[in-house]
Amino acid sequence: MFENKDSENTSISSLGEFGLIDHLTKHFKIQNKTTVKGIGDDAAVLDPEEGKQLVVTTDMLVEGVHFDLSYMPLKHLGYKAVMVNLSDVYAMNALPSQITVSIAVSNRFPVEALEELYAGITTACEHYKVDVIGGDTTSSTTGLVISISAIGTVSEEKITYRNGAKENDLLVVTGDLGAAYLGLQILEREKQVFKVNPNAQPDLEPYSYLVERQLKPEARKDIPLLLSELDVKPTSMIDISDGLSSEVIHLCKSSNVGCNLYEDKIPLDPQVIATCEEFKMDSTTIALSGGEDYELLFTVSTKDFPKIKANPHLTVIGHMTHEKEGMHLITRANTKIPIIARGWNALTEED
Ligand code: ADP
Ligand code: MG
Repeated sequence: MFENKDSENTSISSLGEFGLIDHLTKHFKIQNKTTVKGIGDDAAVLDPEEGKQLVVTTDMLVEGVHFDLSYMPLKHLGYKAVMVNLSDVYAMNALPSQITVSIAVSNRFPVEALEELYAGITTACEHYKVDVIGGDTTSSTTGLVISISAIGTVSEEKITYRNGAKENDLLVVTGDLGAAYLGLQILEREKQVFKVNPNAQPDLEPYSYLVERQLKPEARKDIPLLLSELDVKPTSMIDISDGLSSEVIHLCKSSNVGCNLYEDKIPLDPQVIATCEEFKMDSTTIALSGGEDYELLFTVSTKDFPKIKANPHLTVIGHMTHEKEGMHLITRANTKIPIIARGWNALTEED
């Protein structure tokens, strides 16, 4: 939604590569004492804390594949590009401290567009207290590509992999599911309406939570701290980027366990329920296959149940079983349906 006002735009070529890098990055301030040297040399320098392990993760976002600039404002895109990486760091039970940002841009984008992108990146860095310590800037023939890497730290006792879930462990999810996917559907619909009638004024108010979850999702930075306060070490953890069912499958396969997931336990926001009713969609399918919720999914030993049970951020949605039992959704009607990566196949219902 960047408005191309040619007269007020500055072309990238007028600044040159180094001028552009300087223009986009000069305002970044270092917030972490582990950052010794950020932007400006051949490499950044970090001074990791004694006894901590480093986690590193990277994600690439490609225009037309991962985002559509016709309804994704560049500022939101910058914010989200940082957030998706930090979500992966939190999913290791770690805390992020630095990121690098690499972009490939075509000259279709004026400098002002990149300023918007970096405004979003800056807001995310302030919110999550991470430092931008470098990156790369190159040209692209068509679209925009953003690749962000994040670095975080965690003690060896707290680090949480996907592969530690044990039979009988409880399956826990943070927040609620399905809203980000519905938000995307709402935005797609508005885009189509706009194409037909550019004067139509969309009323997005009934869908405000859904649209916000799509355009301004937040990583669960509170969860590693909450788990620490509750003195709970998850046995396995993953973030929900693709949808609950595919993340459950990842945990089960990595850990060599099965699971029973209870349909009636899946946390849904009232707007998700209302919107699913309005559009005659099944809210369970949306929660299972929707994706982009950036909540955390983890398993805990049953002995930790008293510590998590009353917590408003956490919902127990199932438990892990023996690998041989497979992965199942237990429906409200108490039937058992195999979980498959994209939702589940209702035709293979077992009684
Ligand atoms: P080099 O030629 O050594 O790769 P560059 O001229 O590409 O160095 O980059 C100069 C500095 O600016 C480096 O610290 C680099 O990490 C940083 N940098 C380059 N592009 C970006 C970007 N898009 N965002 C943030 N930092 C960047
Ligand atoms: Mg470079």
